[in-house]
Amino acid sequence: MQTLRSPEEIATQAVGEDSSNRLPSTWVFANRAERLRALAGDHAMADFLLFCARIADLQQQELDRLRPLTPRPDATLLKRCREHGMPPLDAQGGELPETWFSVLQKLATALDPYAPPVLQSALLSLPGMARSAMDELARSILRCEEAPDTVIELALAPLVGAALQVAWTARALALAESDIPAGFEDSLCPACGAHPVASIVRIGDAGHGVRYATCSLCACEWHVTRIKCVPCHNTKGISYQSLEGRQGALHPGVKAETCPECQASLKIVSMEKDPLVDAFADDLATLALDMLVDEAGFHRAGRNLFLFTP
Ligand SMILES: [Zn+2]
Ligand SMILES: [Zn+2]
Repeated sequence: MQTLRSPEEIATQAVGEDSSNRLPSTWVFANRAERLRALAGDHAMADFLLFCARIADLQQQELDRLRPLTPRPDATLLKRCREHGMPPLDAQGGELPETWFSVLQKLATALDPYAPPVLQSALLSLPGMARSAMDELARSILRCEEAPDTVIELALAPLVGAALQVAWTARALALAESDIPAGFEDSLCPACGAHPVASIVRIGDAGHGVRYATCSLCACEWHVTRIKCVPCHNTKGISYQSLEGRQGALHPGVKAETCPECQASLKIVSMEKDPLVDAFADDLATLALDMLVDEAGFHRAGRNLFLFTP
C-alpha cells in the first residue's frame, strides 16, 4: 500500500536521490571572478568587488595546481559517512590538509601589490608569523569560533578563508556525487559540514526551479526545499525581502528569506530571474540587503569567508 506524501515530501523527492547534491564546477572560482567583475560596474563598492575578483582568479589558479595533488578519501571512510550521513570532508574536526598553507603563501605574494592598506600591512607581518599560529587561525575559522585576537589576524582572515576554500574545493572535486550523503536536507553541507553562504534556485540540467544551498567552504550544493528555513527547517510564516529602487533593479535575482521562528535570514539567488547569479559573488554585492533585514530584526545565517564574521 502506498502512503500519502505531504506536498513538502513530494517537493523534496521530485529532485531524486541522485541529484540532491551537486559537486562544484571545476571552474567555480573563474566563474565567480567573472561574476564579481560584472557586478562591480556602477557598484558603490566596486573596488572591493574587483579585489575579490582578483582573489577568485588566483583561487582558480591554485585549484588547478592542487587538483592533481588531492587524493580521494579512502573507501572505508566514504562508506561509513554515506551510511551515517556524516560529511566525508569534515571541516570542524580541525584536521588541515597540508596544502592549505602553500595556497595562502601564493595568494599573499600575488595580492600584495593590490591589497587595501590594512591587508598590506598585515601581509608584511605574515613571513614572521609562526606556522602554528596560522594553523590555529585556520582552525578557528573552520569551527566558526570567535574573532581572532589581533588586528593582523583579523585582516588576514579573509585570505586564510580563501586558501581554505581552495583546499576544500580541491578535496570536493576528488569525490563522486554519490560519495556525499544524500537525502538529509540539513542546514550544513553534507560534504564538509560547513555553513551555506546562501541558496540558489537553478534552471536547466539541475531541474527547473530547484533550490540548493551553496557551501561557504567547499562550494558543493545540496538540495533544500523552497519556502523553508534552512537553519531551522521551519516552513511557517517565511517571508522575503528584496532591495528596492535602483539597487533592486541592479540585483533582480537576490532576495533574503526570513524566518519568524529562529529570526534567521538566508539569501536566495535565482537563476530564474537572472541566469548569471553566483551565490557567493551576489551575496558580496548585496550587503545592503543584509542591513535591511538586520534592521527588521533578523540575523544573517549565511557565512561568507571574505567577510570575516565568526
Ligand atoms: Zn562543503
Ligand atoms: Zn528558522
